[in-house]
Amino acid sequence: MNNSELTNAPDSPDHVPWYFRSLDFEQLWKDYPPPPTYFKTTAKLSRDELRSLQEKRFLQTVQRGWEIPFFKRHWSEHGLVAQDIRSIDDLTKIPVYDVHDIRKSIERNPPFGDFMGISPEDGKRMPLVLQTSGGTTGLPRPMLYSPQDRETMAILGGRRMAMHGIRPGDMVLVTLSLGLGNGGMAPREAIWRYTGAIPVMTGSGANTPTKRQIELIKAWGIKVILGFPAYLRHMAIVARDEMGIDPKSLGIRLIGTHLGMENRELLEDLWGAKAFDMYGTHESGMLAAECEHQNGMHVMEDAFILEMADPDTGKILPDGEKGTTLITTLYKYGAPQIRFNVNDISAFHTDACPCGNTSRRLKRIFGRNDNMIKLRGVNVFPEAIGAAVLEDARSNGEYFCFVDRVGEAGKDHMDVWVEVIDPSADLNKVREEMELRMKEVLSVKVQITPVGKGVLDQYTMTSQSSKVKRLLDRRNK
Ligand SMILES: [Zn+2]
Repeated sequence: MNNSELTNAPDSPDHVPWYFRSLDFEQLWKDYPPPPTYFKTTAKLSRDELRSLQEKRFLQTVQRGWEIPFFKRHWSEHGLVAQDIRSIDDLTKIPVYDVHDIRKSIERNPPFGDFMGISPEDGKRMPLVLQTSGGTTGLPRPMLYSPQDRETMAILGGRRMAMHGIRPGDMVLVTLSLGLGNGGMAPREAIWRYTGAIPVMTGSGANTPTKRQIELIKAWGIKVILGFPAYLRHMAIVARDEMGIDPKSLGIRLIGTHLGMENRELLEDLWGAKAFDMYGTHESGMLAAECEHQNGMHVMEDAFILEMADPDTGKILPDGEKGTTLITTLYKYGAPQIRFNVNDISAFHTDACPCGNTSRRLKRIFGRNDNMIKLRGVNVFPEAIGAAVLEDARSNGEYFCFVDRVGEAGKDHMDVWVEVIDPSADLNKVREEMELRMKEVLSVKVQITPVGKGVLDQYTMTSQSSKVKRLLDRRNK
């Protein structure tokens, strides 16, 4: 088709869909208030008001699910019929699914699967954007975002930044990967559109060398950094040891990160800044974030229903108990998630937050259920090993676990390599003491191998990627 045959008339099949005409923005901002309105509206809803809002959106989401081949098939296979879901109380009747089901959907209908309900063809009626999972093997999984999905994600991300204390005029260094993944792109949209702050997109160490990132912080007076703890530690240590710059002297005010099992105090001490936890995924967007009280992550409950399920039985657990997280999105048109088992282990707080936000809060992400490995019958999360390594000031917190089956008996064996940066440290002592500490933390014996600074980067990719690897399981290989 020639350019002259295309129009802007939205009712013509030959129109070019403009992003800023693709949504009723005023309505969206009423439905999902961005900051600061959020703090005076959604964040103050009573539990009953919230529940009725969730119910309305939940029923719409289920209706949308029936239009999408993946859900239609998955639900029908489990004997679910449309009449079964009449209220939010029926949520638990819906069968759970996980990433394996999504992979099967993609295999069945390559390359996009049939779980999204939109395809590139729909670009003729609405502007779409594609980002991917940070897949480590094979091709990354693509995800298309409709304007409704993407703009709401930006609002939720904006709320996160505001909860952390990011303010208009702040320059925010975003040290998350730029590229196919959402890592850097989603915060850029959130900061730029909904906080008044200014995203500075340096990306990971592969996008902008770490020393250059530190030079920019200094030269431009940047006071806020977003990034993963491992990279933020790496940055601080490069500043201190390779550039002779005390990271504290840079005057960073706050750090937005995904803490998981990392030690908050150590990161805060390194930078002399407050560090705030958050939880988001590339499919669902920003699920939860910490406020100034650093006391658990407020869930964006107008946009999500989260449940904690027993990883073995699937039973839904009461607030306070640790389980695998099930996500139901309430705002998504493309690829809604309806009881998606994301396999992250978390738990709800049971008390109220002093900030007055009425939403439930996640304690933290304790680890990934599928990272969990069985070592001589004991469940071990690499994240718990990382937390213990960080307690030891002789290490920079970098570690990597190798798991093997050894000897004739095929006994499970884990060797944890730990970078030691203190030149005066007695390595035998480090090994003995860390092995004792690991036994306490993990309830199973692992071997510690102290190594020099930088040795593990080839395994973890800390300096290059925001998706840090911590474990290589060589059993059955
Ligand atoms: Zn709070």
